[in-house]
Amino acid sequence: MSPTDRPTLAVWKFSSCDGCQLSLLDCEDELLAVTDALQIAYFLEATRAIVEGPYDVSIVEGSITTPHDAERIHEIRASSRTLITIGACATAGGIQALRNFADVDAFTQIVYASPDYITTLRTSTPISAHVPVDYELNGCPINKAQLLEVIVAHLQRRRPHVRAHSVCVECKRRGTVCVMVAHGTPCLGPVTHAGCGAICPSYDRGCYGCYGPMESPNTHALSAQMRELGSGEIDLVRVYRTFNAGAPAFREASEAHERA
Ligand code: SF4
Ligand code: SF4
Repeated sequence: MSPTDRPTLAVWKFSSCDGCQLSLLDCEDELLAVTDALQIAYFLEATRAIVEGPYDVSIVEGSITTPHDAERIHEIRASSRTLITIGACATAGGIQALRNFADVDAFTQIVYASPDYITTLRTSTPISAHVPVDYELNGCPINKAQLLEVIVAHLQRRRPHVRAHSVCVECKRRGTVCVMVAHGTPCLGPVTHAGCGAICPSYDRGCYGCYGPMESPNTHALSAQMRELGSGEIDLVRVYRTFNAGAPAFREASEAHERA
């Protein structure tokens, strides 16, 4: 197949750590097949060679935190037939969305020696808050097998098979003893999106929600259980305010505990 016959893929970065983009490069065994099916047209993490758009598929990592970000994402959307966002930053605002609950000016004064040079928005927001998004893939970082499934599904013009159940289901499937039931360890697994294979409970620690909220999470019931285990309101605020603090279900839960 000649380069021009293949659909083009662009990978874009906004405010993020690069870990989700690296998941694509980490697909060592599958990368040749991906490049056989898609022409990598823009992916600065991998190559300085750039093919001008428009692009068939754009994968976007990172959140919108600057006025320039807010302009650039519209340009990317306009030059992309399909736009897929990957990771907690792009789908929920990331850890940097903690600023949404605080005074960003106070943060810049504390962190930077010359805060006058910093131009930033008061919030960190997901890509979907700015432009239409065709598919969101959760995780911090994402699961590379799920990323490949999303890309292949796009090429085959079908819906990706990415399960929307909770981490608890993955725990049961691998036969891991529940840390919350057996040891009273607080665990966000009952409300967290599957995808990691329940890594943390398999090491005897609670899930801290890096894959973000599952579909229809019952945070109210989970918070009640965590209270039974001894968590106070401030503990519960912190539980929901990590990588996916800006995801609506976790944001609403943390704000409810802050008011309590
Ligand atoms: S350890 Fe956590 S994720 Fe696993 S079953 Fe228990 S509550 Fe669910
Ligand atoms: S924090 Fe939860 S979702 Fe993230 S890797 Fe651990 S078990 Fe999986």
